[in-house]
Amino acid sequence: MSLTQLTQTLTPPHTTTDKPGYDYDLVIVGGGIVGLTLAAALKNSGLSILLIEARVTSAAVAKGQAYAVHMLSARIFQGIGIWDKILPNIAKYRQVFLSDADYPDVVKFQTADIDTQTPELGYVAEHFALLEPLQEFVKNCANVTYLCPAEVVTTQNEKDIVNVNIKVDGEQQQIKTKLLVAADGSRSKIREAAGIKTKGWKYWQSCIVAFVRPEKSHNYTAYEKFWQSGPFAILPLPGNRCRIVWTAPHEEAKALCALSDEEFLAELSQRYGKQMGKLELLGDRFIFQVQLMQSDRYVLPRLALVGDAAHNCHPVGGQGLNLGIRDAAALAEVIQTAHQNGADIGKIEILKQYERWRKKENLAILGFTDLLDRVFSNNILPVVVIRRLGLWLMQRVPMLKIFALKLMIGLKGRTPELGKM
Ligand SMILES: Cc1cc2nc3c(=O)[nH]c(=O)nc-3n(C[C@H](O)[C@H](O)[C@H](O)COP(=O)(O)OP(=O)(O)OC[C@H]3O[C@@H](n4cnc5c(N)ncnc54)[C@H](O)[C@@H]3O)c2cc1C
Repeated sequence: MSLTQLTQTLTPPHTTTDKPGYDYDLVIVGGGIVGLTLAAALKNSGLSILLIEARVTSAAVAKGQAYAVHMLSARIFQGIGIWDKILPNIAKYRQVFLSDADYPDVVKFQTADIDTQTPELGYVAEHFALLEPLQEFVKNCANVTYLCPAEVVTTQNEKDIVNVNIKVDGEQQQIKTKLLVAADGSRSKIREAAGIKTKGWKYWQSCIVAFVRPEKSHNYTAYEKFWQSGPFAILPLPGNRCRIVWTAPHEEAKALCALSDEEFLAELSQRYGKQMGKLELLGDRFIFQVQLMQSDRYVLPRLALVGDAAHNCHPVGGQGLNLGIRDAAALAEVIQTAHQNGADIGKIEILKQYERWRKKENLAILGFTDLLDRVFSNNILPVVVIRRLGLWLMQRVPMLKIFALKLMIGLKGRTPELGKM
């Protein structure tokens, strides 16, 4: 959308509010999966929304990532009414095998362990498979203006209003809104500009992400293998491909990435195991830094943070995006209810409801992933004994196994209305 078109959409004021002076009830900064999910979840809210994304659609769609999509996220997408568009392009997994290096006692999570109401335990989606249907859906929401590419440059809070300066086609435009939502990722400029501090640390490890095609069927099984250098995940994808997330200390990860394809495959095969036969490497390998981060606050008057802008965690267990999808569903529920009750959605009392709901739950998962990484990424004998005993118990004590499984797939904690079946 050009600046002229944008100006046209804003005149007469594009608003459902009773107070004059607002261009939109809500401005979402960041059209990644979390920002798009929030806009989509508010389709029937009666709120007027501007969603701003800096990266051109083709670049955003081409991001070489894939995610474990947990049961609750799938239910939220179902609640939004978009799941049918996502499902054909993603893989399902029916079981997860958890193991400690070569130790033979494997914990096997299967659908029979809990009532998932589906033959699957979870799903794996490439970035485009989530992003494209969400973009399409949002473009068809009458109450959402999707502005891409455009960048939020600065924001300025007043008592009843936020002024948002947007750069479109090299020109600047000012938008007024009641509530600004930062869905602008881990380096959130909105969070920084608001002076919200964060706590956390960078891990001593990096993650290598690569895609492979095994000789034999992946059999719809996901693996999380804990090696001393770090967790190693195998996730099934459509077309009998698999995505691996290989965590290793920075220098080792860099060295692995610098290997030739043949050398890399030889190293990879040792971690991967022989269960799927020979592996063929598909495309490039990507390396990611990983960190744990929790924002001190998720909300301020007229501002809310969601997704990676609010928190980051270790990729073990594939939690980060799933937490963001839950943030989006929770915030949508809180502000939609407030709006229907005639309240001002930017008021701190309203936004605090979202913070109380999500901050504690996210912290629990951040702690869980950190614990998993630390307990398994070492060779200290007493720790090895305790963790292997833990795995042995988990495989044999159903209560323990069900608790761990439900925690991992999002079925612990408060369920947003959109995710209730
Ligand atoms: C190796 C690795 C593996 C992972 N695996 C999983 C997994 O299996 N499952 C899982 O749940 N999670 C996983 N994660 C975490 C997941 O990638 C993130 O949690 C998720 O991508 C965050 O989404 P987001 O929408 O919050 O942020 P982002 O995807 O970072 O989106 C932010 C968007 O905001 C836009 N933006 C930024 N600034 C501006 C601005 N000023 N104006 C306009 N737009 C702006 C950006 O262009 C971007 O599109 C993994 C992470 C890593 C590193």
